[in-house]
Formats: sequence, structure tokens, C-alpha cells
Amino acid sequence: PVQTTKTSVHGAINMLGLAKRTGARILQASTSEVYGDPEVHPQREDYVGHVNPIGPRSCYDEGKRCAETLFFDYRRQHNMPIKVARIFNTFGPRMHVNDGRVVSNFINQALAGVDITIYGDGTQTRSFCYVDDLVRGLLALMDSPEGFTGPVNLGNTGEMTIREMAELIIGMTKSSSRLVFKPLPEDDPMQRQPDISLAKQELNWEPVISLEEGLQNTIEYFMQKQAA
Ligand code: UDP
Repeated sequence: PVQTTKTSVHGAINMLGLAKRTGARILQASTSEVYGDPEVHPQREDYVGHVNPIGPRSCYDEGKRCAETLFFDYRRQHNMPIKVARIFNTFGPRMHVNDGRVVSNFINQALAGVDITIYGDGTQTRSFCYVDDLVRGLLALMDSPEGFTGPVNLGNTGEMTIREMAELIIGMTKSSSRLVFKPLPEDDPMQRQPDISLAKQELNWEPVISLEEGLQNTIEYFMQKQAA
């Protein structure tokens, strides 16, 4: 955790210093985690968030929040061309197969035919964006006029429960895996869905890849990795 906070904050300062010296445009890959366990739904960019500063997740959340602060301080003090994207849950081929996140865990478990580990009762929600859609959004943000800094949400509005994700992956892989329920980690957000009106308006961007198509490509990638 100490390293996570330090990397977010120290890394941002180093890169902002470099961008200042070279005059480069600079993008902060921020996160929906800045909203914490949100009390408004869906989340718009003007929602300031609900983060526990001393919880087990806060190293990441607060590190990223502080990085956003630094970006906007550099903008105010040095008028730098900054861009801040708040990235919601993303998945796709070439994601780390053992990153421990939900899509990778569930696909690994389904393909191996072992129990699918649902944390909590599986009613918590997330909204999953396919990687190609996200990358298109990031490119559009970098190409946007200098006056548009964000922060801007980039994500898919298709919200689902974690249990639904497990059942979808079991169905798509024709797996014999069963669901098992494990304790919910502390401060795990109950619901998360981006409001992407701003990205639509300013970047003319919205996701176009369906969840099923994205998952199909991702499952094939995991199968190739296992065969290799
Ligand atoms: N999750 C789960 N089983 C797993 C991994 C994650 O039920 O094997 C849940 C996790 O508790 C959370 C959701 O899936 O509610 C998304 O978790 P992930 O770590 O992928 O992303 P984040 O919590 O950062 O949105």
C-alpha cells in the first residue's frame, strides 16, 4: 500500500515535471476509484466522491485523487495542457491473466472447472468496458482541444451484478463450475456506473463493443494463453 500511494503521487510529480520542461501534453489515467463507495448513481464528474481515507483500498484511491490534484495545480500554476480520464472497470485480451480482478479470476476458474469465487453475495455492481473502446476514448481525449482538460469519465454504462457476470462467463465457457461465496473485502464499492454524457458531448465518444463480444475475445485470449 505504501508503494501504491507513493507511485501514484511521486510518479505524477515526476511526469508533470518532465511534461513542463518539454512542453508535452500529459494524460492522467485516473480511475472511478476516486468516487469511492459512491452515494450518487450513476457517477458524474462533478461528484466529489466518498472515499474512506484510512481503509485498505485508500492507498490506491487517495493516491489517484492526489495525482488529480497535482495535475490541476500544474494546470493552474503553469497553464499546462493536461488531460484527466477517469477510467471505469476495463477488460480485454492482453489483460494480466493473474491480476486477481473479477473478469480474469472468473474466466480462469470457469475454464479450469473450479469454483467461482464471489466476494459477498454478488449483488454489488460494476460496469465493464472493452479495452478497444477505452483506447479509442483515450485517443479522442488526447486529440481534444487544449481547453478541455477533463476530468472525464471513460467507461461502459452497462451495469451488472457480479453474480450476473459469473453466470454469463459460466454460460459462455460451458463450464461446470459452481458459485461459492467468500467474504466481501472491506470498502468494496456496492455499485458503480459511469455517466458518460460529458465524453459523448466533448469527445463524441461512446462504447460500441457489446459485453458478449468483448468477453468472447477475452475468453479466447485466456484459452490461447493456457494452451501456450
Ligand atoms: N470480485 C469477486 N470475485 C473475485 C474477484 C472480485 O466477487 O474473484 C468482486 C469484488 O469484490 C468487486 C468486483 O468483483 O466487488 C470487482 O472487483 P475487481 O477487483 O475486478 O475491481 P474493482 O473492485 O476495483 O472494481
